[in-house]
Amino acid sequence: MTDSPDGRTGLSTPPPPGVEAAMATCIGGEDRNSNQAGARVLVVEDEPQIRRFLRVALTAHGYQMIEAKSGQEGLAQAATSHPDLVILDLGLPDMDGLQVVQRLREWSTVPIIVLSVRGEDRVKIGALDAGADDYVTKPFSMGELLARIRVALRHTALNAANDPVIVAGDLRIDLVQRRVTRAGQEIKLTPTEYEILKVLAIHRDRVVTHSQILRAVWGPGYQEETHYLRVYMGQLRRKLEPDPARPRYLLTEPRVGYRLISSPSLTDSP
Ligand code: CA
Repeated sequence: MTDSPDGRTGLSTPPPPGVEAAMATCIGGEDRNSNQAGARVLVVEDEPQIRRFLRVALTAHGYQMIEAKSGQEGLAQAATSHPDLVILDLGLPDMDGLQVVQRLREWSTVPIIVLSVRGEDRVKIGALDAGADDYVTKPFSMGELLARIRVALRHTALNAANDPVIVAGDLRIDLVQRRVTRAGQEIKLTPTEYEILKVLAIHRDRVVTHSQILRAVWGPGYQEETHYLRVYMGQLRRKLEPDPARPRYLLTEPRVGYRLISSPSLTDSP
C-alpha cells in the first residue's frame, strides 16, 4: 500500500482543566530547539478550551502565544504583533478561515498552520492552495502540532539561508546541477520526475497539494489530473525509496497531496 501511515497516531482532545498542569510538566521543554525558543505564535481560534490547551503547551515549550478569537481579530493581531507563525482554526464565527489565509497572504509570508475538522477537506485544501503552509486535523495530538511548528519555523530559517542543495536523509537534491543522488549514487530521473521532486524538495516537510504540484510541473489547466501524479509518484518512489512499498521520504497525504520528509526525526511525534 502506498498511502502509508505517516506518524499521525496520537489523538488527544483538549484535556479537562485539572490535568493541564500535569501535561505541561510532562511535555515541557525536552526537545526545545534553542533557535526557536521565544518564537511568537498567533493562535486564531474561537474555542476557549483549545486556546487554553494551546497556551499551556506552547508556553511550556518556550513559545510566546498571542491569541485571537475571530478572523478579524486575528488579522488585526497579525498586523500589529508580528508573529513568527500563525495557527489558524478554519471554523471561525465571523469569517471563513480560507478568507483569513487569503487576506494574510496579501501582505505577509508568515507561516500558517491551519486546524481543520475531519471531513472539511475542501476548505482545508482551499486554504493550502491559498498559501497556508500546513494543516493539522482536529482532534490533534500536541506532539504532532509541535512537530509541524518546528518544521514551519525551521523552513523560514532555511529559506533565509537560500541553499540550493537540499538534503533529505540519504538523498541529496542539487537544484543548480539538477542532480539527485542517494548515498552518493546518482539517480537518473526523467525531467517530469525531477520537476515533481523539486517542488516537494523546495517545500520539504510541508504538505504540497495536488493542484500546487500539477500547476508547477504541467502548468495551468492540469489541476485536476491527479492520476498523472499517482503514476509519477510511484516511479519516483521506486527510484528513491529504500522500500517503495513503505515510503519514508515521499509521503502521501490522503486526498490532499504529498510531503517530502527531510528528516524523519524532525516530524516524528515525540
Ligand atoms: Ca472553531
